[in-house]
Amino acid sequence: MSTFTTLFLITVFAGLGLQLWLAARQAVHIRSHAAAVPAAFADRISLQQHQKAADYSLARLALERWDLVLGTLVLLGWTVAGGLNWLDITVSTLGLSPLWGGVALILATVLIGGLIDLPLSIWGTFGIETKFGFNRNTPLRFIKDKLLGVAVALVLGVPLLAVILWLMASAGDYWWLWAWLVWMGFSLLLTWAYPIWIAPLFNRFKPLQDASLRSRLEALLQRCGFKSNGMFIMDGSRRSAHGNAYFTGFGANKRIVFFDTLLDGLDGDEVEAVLAHELGHFKRRHVIKMLGVSALMSLFGLALLGWLSQQPWFYSGLGVERMTPALALALFMFVLPVFTVFVSPLMARFSRRHEFEADDFAAEQTDPRHLISGLVKMYRDNASTLTPDPLYSAFYHSHPPAPVRIAHLSSKIPA
Ligand SMILES: [Zn+2]
Repeated sequence: MSTFTTLFLITVFAGLGLQLWLAARQAVHIRSHAAAVPAAFADRISLQQHQKAADYSLARLALERWDLVLGTLVLLGWTVAGGLNWLDITVSTLGLSPLWGGVALILATVLIGGLIDLPLSIWGTFGIETKFGFNRNTPLRFIKDKLLGVAVALVLGVPLLAVILWLMASAGDYWWLWAWLVWMGFSLLLTWAYPIWIAPLFNRFKPLQDASLRSRLEALLQRCGFKSNGMFIMDGSRRSAHGNAYFTGFGANKRIVFFDTLLDGLDGDEVEAVLAHELGHFKRRHVIKMLGVSALMSLFGLALLGWLSQQPWFYSGLGVERMTPALALALFMFVLPVFTVFVSPLMARFSRRHEFEADDFAAEQTDPRHLISGLVKMYRDNASTLTPDPLYSAFYHSHPPAPVRIAHLSSKIPA
């Protein structure tokens, strides 16, 4: 076994072991805190709701553990067990040009990966989400969504993939710099096009009609000096009872989107506070910072791929015989998450800091009590656990644990 294969296998099992251990800690922590509602929430969340959140979190956690184990088996199947090499040989018998043969190889790996993940996705939606009363999707719409997702991915992904593979084969040693420029342009185009062209394929959006809510939200936007291209309600309730709010697009194309399920649950004060939090992400320049970070990471990733694609051990160590751009790209997509798992706590920490800053902004613009009551309703209605394991939370969560976040906001309540 080559040194690289050994290193790869050690990293795979270290990552899997770490994540299973964290999941086990999370399960123990949630179970041991299920008997009583944490004091800070006791007046607003019933014991029954708290225990539903515990059961729901444990069910999702079980799915997560299966997903980790299955994902590892699939990864080993593609790499050291020779799955990708077999697929490469099979695709090469089709007699396509090197470029389109490469496109076909990547598409086939993505398609096969999606089919392998399908049972867990079905279990998540029609098993767990249905059991806890969140699922509103029908099997027919689920299938339609998946097919539509594949169609959109093909229309957008095939040209991008063809350009990247072409650059890898023809643009010389610095192909990755060109590929990065293409990728950045593509990302910007997608962010711009998403609200108008893509999101409406999956959901219906209608302008926010409620005149009194509208005028107070507009007053908030004006107070914060924020321009947007309208506020919309999305029919999230067609698929799920989970609620949310988000910004989409950029520049003059920026939209504010509320899930109908969120507006049904929160009153006007709370919706205003949630919007103020989202505005905080813009005002504290989080959106720009995250864009900068992801641009740098993709540049670094592509440069790394540029180097790895020249190294014979990268291919042979992962069970592949030929050295082609498509094989380098496919292996890179498989192997990258194995190593980046260990960086995810840093990203989560970065993100949690942003959440505190956005909460501070909301507490300056609106009464912190409104955001607190809105968040508590969202925790309750989404059956989010109030008692995550501190380590699990620190490793994965983009948002601070509920008790920490509520305590932070409570400290902002004017005396
Ligand atoms: Zn936020």
